[in-house]
Amino acid sequence: MGTGMEAEWSRVLDRLRSEFDGSVFNSWFKPLALVNIEDGCAVIAAPTRFMRTWLESNYADRIRSAWKSENPSVSDISFIVLSGFSTANQNSGSEVLTEGGGASLAGPGGKAHHPATKNQPQAQKRAIEVRSGPENTSKSTSEFGAPLDPRFTFDSFVVGKSNELAYAAARRVAENKEVHFNPLFLHSGVGLGKTHLMHAIACAHLEKFPERRVVYLSAEQFMYQFITSIRYKDTMSFKQKFRSVDLLMIDDLQFIANKQSTQEEFFHTFNALIDHSRQVIISADRSPTDMEGIEERIRSRLGWGLVADIYPTDYELRLGILQQKANKVPEVDISLAVLEFLARRVTSNVRELEGALNRMIAHATLIGRPITLEMTQEVLKDLLRANVRRVSIDEIQRRVADYFNIRLSDLLSSRRARQVARPRQVAMYLAKKLTAKSLPVIGREFGGRDHTTVMHAVKRIDELRLSDSGLEEDIQHLERIFGT
Ligand code: ADP
Ligand code: MG
Repeated sequence: MGTGMEAEWSRVLDRLRSEFDGSVFNSWFKPLALVNIEDGCAVIAAPTRFMRTWLESNYADRIRSAWKSENPSVSDISFIVLSGFSTANQNSGSEVLTEGGGASLAGPGGKAHHPATKNQPQAQKRAIEVRSGPENTSKSTSEFGAPLDPRFTFDSFVVGKSNELAYAAARRVAENKEVHFNPLFLHSGVGLGKTHLMHAIACAHLEKFPERRVVYLSAEQFMYQFITSIRYKDTMSFKQKFRSVDLLMIDDLQFIANKQSTQEEFFHTFNALIDHSRQVIISADRSPTDMEGIEERIRSRLGWGLVADIYPTDYELRLGILQQKANKVPEVDISLAVLEFLARRVTSNVRELEGALNRMIAHATLIGRPITLEMTQEVLKDLLRANVRRVSIDEIQRRVADYFNIRLSDLLSSRRARQVARPRQVAMYLAKKLTAKSLPVIGREFGGRDHTTVMHAVKRIDELRLSDSGLEEDIQHLERIFGT
C-alpha cells in the first residue's frame, strides 16, 4: 500500500488513541490493519470475527469520523476478518499474506467482505502479516483470545517492592505447567501493570510450551462472546472452547459486576477449569472481597488461590521504569536530573509516567536540543498540577481493611471488638494525615461517626506509634502503600 495511505492510517490511529482510554485503544484499535482505500472506502482488517462484529456495532462511527477528519474523501469504512494476523503481534518469522496461505479472508457477513482485497499486488498487502504456518505456533493466544502486545514482556517489566509478589507469582505461573495456586488473582489501581504482566505470562508460557492452549481476553470480550453465543444459540461451543483451555486469563473482571448471566457463565467456566487443574488468572481493580456487584460465592472462590496486590509505585520503581524506557531511545539525551524530577512528581500511575516521558522525548526530538529541567516543567505544566497525589478516604479504608484482613463493612460498622476497632482507628488516622478532609467529613465517611471520635483516634495512634513497634511497622507499611 502506498506510504501516503499508511501515514494517513497512522494519523487516524493517533486520533483514536487520543479519544479512547489506553486499554480500549490497545484492545480494539491497535490490532487493526489497513488493507486498502478505494472508492472512498477504507477497508480495515481485524484479527477475529468477534472483533469485527464488536467494532462494527460499537466503534465504526468513531473510526469513520476520524477518517473523515483526516481525509474527507474517505467517506466509509468496512471491516474484513483476517484470522491469525495482528499488527500488534508482528514478529520476524511472519510471512506476507498470500492467496491460499494460512490466513483466511473470511467474510461471512457478506457485505464486509471486500472483493477488491483479493487481487491486490503483494506490495499493497505489506501492512498485513500472518503468523507463519497454520498451526498458530507463534506468540498469540488462540483464535478467540485477544492479541498480545509484544512490548509487554517480563524483560520490560521493572520490579520493585510494590509489585514483586505479583511479578514472582506471574513468573511462577508462566514457567510451570503444574498448578501451584489457582486462581492467581492480580489486583491494583489503573496503570500499574496488570495487563502487562498477563501478556508477559502468555508470551513466556507459549514460548516454553508452544503446544499449550493459552487464552487472554478482557472480561468485556468474554461477555461479548457469551452474549453472541446466546444470540446464535451456540452456547455449547462457547462452553467447549473455553473449557478446553490450559491457561485462561481474564483481564478487568470488575467489568462483569452486576451482569448476572455473564457472571453465572463465568463462574461455571471458572469452576470447570479449576476442577480440571487448568490455570486461571484474573485481574481486577480491587480485591475479591471488595468486588461489589459480584455474587458472594464467586467472590469467595476468587480468593482461594493467590491474591496478589500491586501497590502504587514508589520513587525507586518510578525512576527504574523511566531509566529503562529512556535507555531504549539512546538518540535522545535526557539527563538523570530530569528523570529524577519526573519520578518525584508524576506519581499517579505508570501509564502517566510513560506518557510524561514520551512527551519529553517528542519535544526533544522536535527541538533537537537536550532536555532541561525548566523545559520539563514548562512542557508538563498541566500534568504536574494534576499529579499532586490525592489519596481518597475510600482507598484508605479499602487498603487498611485488606491489610488487617477484615471486611470493609466491619471497618465501617459500629462493632467495637478490638480486631476491628484498632484498624478503624488506623484508617481514621491515615485519612487525617494523608487527605485534606476535615474531622467531621472523615467521621461521616466512617459510618457517620462524630468528629471527636476521629480526633481521639488520631491522638491514640500518635501515642501508640511511639510505644508499640508492631503498630509502628504496620503504619509505615501502609504509608508506603499510599506512596508517601
Ligand atoms: P493496568 O492493566 O494495571 O491498568 P498496564 O499493564 O496497562 O496497567 O500498564 C500501563 C502501562 O505502564 C503499560 O504501558 C505498562 O507497560 C507500563 N508498566 C506498568 N508497570 C510497569 C513496570 N513495573 N515496568 C515497566 N512498565 C510498566
Ligand atoms: Mg489493564
